[in-house]
Order: sequence, then C-alpha cells, then structure tokens
Amino acid sequence: MVPASQLITQLQRRLDDLRLDSDTRPSVVISSCLLGQPVRYDGGHKSLGDLNRLLSDSLKLHSVCPEVAANMGTPRPPIQWIETRTGELQLQQVDDSLRRFDHSLERTCQQQLEHLPRLDGAVLKARSPSCGSATTPIFSEQGQVLRSGDGMWAATLKEHRPDTLIIDEDQLQTLEDTYWFIVIIYTHKRMREKQDREKGGAGSGNKPEPDIRVLLNCSRVQRPQLIGKLLLPY
Ligand code: SF4
Repeated sequence: MVPASQLITQLQRRLDDLRLDSDTRPSVVISSCLLGQPVRYDGGHKSLGDLNRLLSDSLKLHSVCPEVAANMGTPRPPIQWIETRTGELQLQQVDDSLRRFDHSLERTCQQQLEHLPRLDGAVLKARSPSCGSATTPIFSEQGQVLRSGDGMWAATLKEHRPDTLIIDEDQLQTLEDTYWFIVIIYTHKRMREKQDREKGGAGSGNKPEPDIRVLLNCSRVQRPQLIGKLLLPY
C-alpha cells in the first residue's frame, strides 16, 4: 500500500508540470455553499474548509447557487423532487405541494450556463434537489424514496456541457482526494486542447486516451495502480 503522503508528492509534481504548460487554469463550477457561502435553505453552508484554498489556488472557480439565482431567498422553505402517480417529475416545496419550482429553476439553470465559460469540471453538493448528481432523492407522493437522480443544475450541466467532469463533496474529503481531482482536471483540459488542435486533421492515429471518468471515479485503493496514467506526458 502506497502511503498517502507519497501519492500526494507524486500528484504535486505532476501538477507543477501541468501548470507550467498551461496558459490558463482549468474552469470549474462549484456549488456556492461548498465555498462557505451561507446560501442553503436554512441559511447555513457546507464549506469544504481548508480544501477550498487548494482548489482556488489551482483552478478558476465559478461559484453558482441556482436557488439563490432563481430568487428563492435565503433562508427559504426546502424543496424536493416528487414523482407523481402519472410519472411526472415535479420540484415541490416540502410543506406545500402546490408550490412548484421546476420550470423557474430550469430557466435559471440555463441562464446561469450562458454566463459560464467552457467548463473543465464541476464540484457539486450531493443530494441537493438542485445540485445533486445522481444522488438526489426522488420521492413518491406518499413520501417514500423511489430512487436517486440528478438535481436540476446537475442535469442541465450534463445535458448542455457533457464534457464537464462532475464530482460531489463526498469524493473530496481529503488532501489526496483534492490533488487527485485537480490533476485529473488539468489532464482533462490538456487532452481537450490537444483534441481541439487535431480537429479536422486526417485521423490523429493517437493511441486511445485512458477513460478520464474511470480515473475520476476510481476508489482510493485503486489510485496507486492508476496514477501512472495521470503521470503520462499528455
Ligand atoms: S446545494 Fe446548490 S442550490 Fe443548495 S445551497 Fe448549495 S449551491 Fe445552493
């Protein structure tokens, strides 16, 4: 087992190399509450703490809270996704099912996207009706959890910016997790830039790139075996 400190040192070296070759930092959108902004429905936040310093030193962060952008106020009544008996998905206020936000929030999410540059990554709040990525509970009208799905903001990103690498704060718990994410985002940016340069060329003939999403979502125990793929000179 490779110690975390050794892995971090390798990742730091790779990051230094990638930074030298990169004109601009990768662009990453982040849920505002994870940056420590008090925008949650209860007026609180879910700051990533010290990890935010490393993220903001290495990446160009774009803070977005879709619910605040939709003028829902802070604090505000909580909302949840309901699947009706007819199969329709509705974003309802928890204590008042007649108050729906799906249409207004969808419009706001699309507007937010128009103001953002090309995104390399996203760090989203897990389980949120707006920001959750595959972790947001979908309830029945009787209040039972039917399954997990995407919040409105995560769904909008996936539909309109499919090349964006998305994680949530559950995948960003430690310094090692954060370096791992940052190096992957830099590598992803470099690979996209390379593909852009080659676009229109007569077949690149390059060896297939490793699946960057597999690297992003691999478990911590797999990292020592997979780090070699990130250390390749893309
Ligand atoms: S999870 Fe998303 S919508 Fe909720 S407070 Fe955080 S940024 Fe705002």
